[in-house]
Amino acid sequence: MGVRYVDFKDVEIAQVDALVVGSGFAGSVVARELAERADKRVLVIEKRAHVGGNMYDETDEAGILVHRYGPHIFHTNDKRAFDYVRRFTEWRDYSHKVLADWYGTYLPVPFNKTSMEIAFGDERAACLTEKLVQTFGDERKVTINELRAQEDPELTEVADFVYRNVFLYYTQKQWGLTPEEVDPSVTARVPVFLSRDDRYFQDAYQGMPAEGYTPLFERMLDHENISVCLNTEAESVFDLEFESDDEDAPLAEICLNDTAFEGPIVYTGPLDELFLSRFGRLPYRSLDFVYETHDVDYKLPCGTVNFTVTEDYTRITEFKHLTGQTSAKTTIMKEYSHPYEDPKRQTPYYAILSEQNNAHYERYRALTSSLPNFHPLGRLAEYRYYNMDVIIGRALALADQLVED
Ligand code: FAD
Ligand code: UDP
Repeated sequence: MGVRYVDFKDVEIAQVDALVVGSGFAGSVVARELAERADKRVLVIEKRAHVGGNMYDETDEAGILVHRYGPHIFHTNDKRAFDYVRRFTEWRDYSHKVLADWYGTYLPVPFNKTSMEIAFGDERAACLTEKLVQTFGDERKVTINELRAQEDPELTEVADFVYRNVFLYYTQKQWGLTPEEVDPSVTARVPVFLSRDDRYFQDAYQGMPAEGYTPLFERMLDHENISVCLNTEAESVFDLEFESDDEDAPLAEICLNDTAFEGPIVYTGPLDELFLSRFGRLPYRSLDFVYETHDVDYKLPCGTVNFTVTEDYTRITEFKHLTGQTSAKTTIMKEYSHPYEDPKRQTPYYAILSEQNNAHYERYRALTSSLPNFHPLGRLAEYRYYNMDVIIGRALALADQLVED
């Protein structure tokens, strides 16, 4: 039948059992589960003009399917999350590959045994790799911080090379910080891999939705109990009541159309923006995406090329590698990272994890802790660096809990 789109002014709040803010994986999975398993009438409020959150894709003017908010590749070891998304679409097998452009020479990323040979030459690489394998074990993943902590001069040689040629400039561009300054979990996402496996991810389940992500979301939200209000910001329809006028006074209730909403409210937007940034804005990184279409079959040798030593963009993605689409044309996308400064113009993409920022976030989170029907969920609302599969897993876990209630 299709998604039931409604105008907020036509919604009868008394007829709504659960509210979901945001239609990315966090919001859409919970909405579907509550509609289907608990027979709840769910209203999804989405500020953008479309559903799908950051996974949204569409065909561009050249007819190429492109991702509008960053390249999204599905990979997981969580079978429940994979089985869940498989319900809504066919999947194509796809293993993402990334090369670093190192002054015009390509090095596989994660930096692996093949990268060692390209960087150091076969003979020296054999000797250094043997030392690495003796130290860490074959087929092991070693974070750049672990590698840099070694004192052996040969391991230091490798660590310095990888640090300077793979991590330093890319991390400075992406975060405005050095690898030492970012949370260690960030660079640990892309460890040195003592292997010939040149896939970016080693997860058991990897792939892409055969027709794209947007139809997947449209099917997930296509349920008689779900209505979706697009172009609607939660702040514009929520009336927040606090326990007192104190800045840190917790939320007492959330009203819509002058009535306190008693059902579950699953909020997947940035928590600071819900509270109109009363404690100052949480720091995020934003991105600009620049697309180019070329009259050639393929422009790049693989899905993504990372520019680790040159250029002011971080990476280029060529969508046809990801989607398997055939066409005489191709569209590529460059990513430029910036501080998130202007909510009207920019999108918050990456929480900048640090003790200070996490404490800042917790101050906002504390405002919500006294409202048992309010559930912050997702990459923005939890101020975390979560991949899609983790969000799906967390959304299913929250739905399990809400279905039980
Ligand atoms: P989102 O997808 O951001 O959805 C939140 C939704 O809430 C949005 O639609 C937003 O418009 C809406 N919203 C926000 N505030 C409000 C409000 N006040 N009122 C109403 N609506 C609101 N993960 C992977 O697993 N693989 C990848 O390859 C991958 N690549 C990525 C590339 C980039 C550049 C980025 C930034 C992320 C990538 N991710 C990837 C992570 C992935 O995007 C997230 O895990 C996923 O989007 C999280 O889903 P979500 O529902 O929490 O958030
Ligand atoms: N990174 C890097 N060089 C690379 C790849 C990654 O320095 O070639 C670092 C960088 O700090 C980046 C982080 O590792 O932000 C995580 O990389 P990932 O590819 O997981 O980032 P995402 O796809 O989430 O943007």
